[in-house]
Amino acid sequence: MEFSIPKESLDFKESVYRFGVRDLAPVSQQPEYDEREEFIVENWKKMADFGLLGLPYPEEYGGSGASVLTTTLAGEALGYAGIDAGIMLSWGAHMILCGVPIWQMGTEAQKKKYLPKLAAGEWIGGLGLTEPNAGSDAAGIQTTAVKKGDRYILNGAKMFITNGPTGKVFVVAAVTDKSKKAFGISAFIVEKGMKGFSVGKKLSKLGVRTSPTSELIFEDCEVPEENMLGEPDLGFVNVIKLTLEWERSCLVAPAIGGLELGLKGAIEYAKQRKQFGRPIIKFQAIRHKIADLKMNLEAVRQIVYKVAWLKDRDIPAMMEASAAKLFVSEIMEKMSSEVLQIFGGYGFIKEYLVERGYRDSRLASIGGGTSEIQRGIIARSIINF
Ligand SMILES: Cc1cc2nc3c(=O)[nH]c(=O)nc-3n(C[C@H](O)[C@H](O)[C@H](O)COP(=O)(O)OP(=O)(O)OC[C@H]3O[C@@H](n4cnc5c(N)ncnc54)[C@H](O)[C@@H]3O)c2cc1C
Repeated sequence: MEFSIPKESLDFKESVYRFGVRDLAPVSQQPEYDEREEFIVENWKKMADFGLLGLPYPEEYGGSGASVLTTTLAGEALGYAGIDAGIMLSWGAHMILCGVPIWQMGTEAQKKKYLPKLAAGEWIGGLGLTEPNAGSDAAGIQTTAVKKGDRYILNGAKMFITNGPTGKVFVVAAVTDKSKKAFGISAFIVEKGMKGFSVGKKLSKLGVRTSPTSELIFEDCEVPEENMLGEPDLGFVNVIKLTLEWERSCLVAPAIGGLELGLKGAIEYAKQRKQFGRPIIKFQAIRHKIADLKMNLEAVRQIVYKVAWLKDRDIPAMMEASAAKLFVSEIMEKMSSEVLQIFGGYGFIKEYLVERGYRDSRLASIGGGTSEIQRGIIARSIINF
């Protein structure tokens, strides 16, 4: 078994980490942005300048041609640098959920039009799949797209869309043939400014509050036919499934770095916090928590790297990506709770980032398909019944 990572990938990870600590974290960690639920535009621009917004796209479309593993390592480095989980979610929705399906399934004209703008951060992207009445049952969406001349007319609404308020371009799923269920859904690239497309009010959230979320509304929205992404009726089975596989691998990478940062903070705190005349790190109960945190961190890292490794070799990884996403989500929730426990009462106070990390961790087992749905995918892949 080969566990080594190419040196250039590790060097890049290190440079992203240093950039994150120096240029992003000081702003990212200011509590005001979280309190005001404000997207940190200043950091987004810096990330664009550093080349982080189009990492896996080929260079000819403004990207860096980074491998899936290198993209994963960059996400991990940003998480470890302490960058807010909100901007990391927006980064994933933009670069992975919008840009990757355009790169992998788009026509040459679509790639040339959208990818350079996304990679440069000039346009922010997102994915419109979930609807008010269709979340886990993603193939049960109700938004329709009807062909009329050289355009499709979209009607319906999308719910909980990351980057809804700030985004300019969205990959949107809509029903083109209801009788064919999942095989009758197409994908479209929809731009703000297209007639009949509007955005609902910004939604206030428990965590990842620096990532803006809203509804997208389509009222006789006119989308040119050349904006269909992939083949008619095969948008769900091709475009959306591919996108979800990426989402469940690369997009969870910042969480690994966040977990490592939490572990580091917990050790530092436990060394200086004294009770009963001794640093609390001397207590076996605390040491065992630290050991469990480390064990989980190592396991999470391996499972996510494995998915990246498979994807870099074009090996289908739907089950592995679901397993990675499920494992990371559950470990994140558990670990952020344990880190908070080590901080005691101070962990509960807003001044400490630990409280924010605890709130932020809660999304992972809901977004990108809930833990219940991931268990269903994994079970289906091994039980032929
Ligand atoms: C902050 C945030 C950002 C998001 N960003 C995006 C985005 O950018 N684009 C996008 O398209 N979506 C986005 N989502 C939506 C997200 O993917 C959905 O919330 C998620 O898929 C769950 O759907 P739901 O909320 O409708 O819950 P439901 O599907 O209604 O589920 C409710 C509960 O029922 C359970 N359940 C449902 N069906 C089953 C079943 N068959 N077996 C067992 N249990 C089941 C679920 O696991 C859950 O516990 C975002 C959500 C949030 C909160």
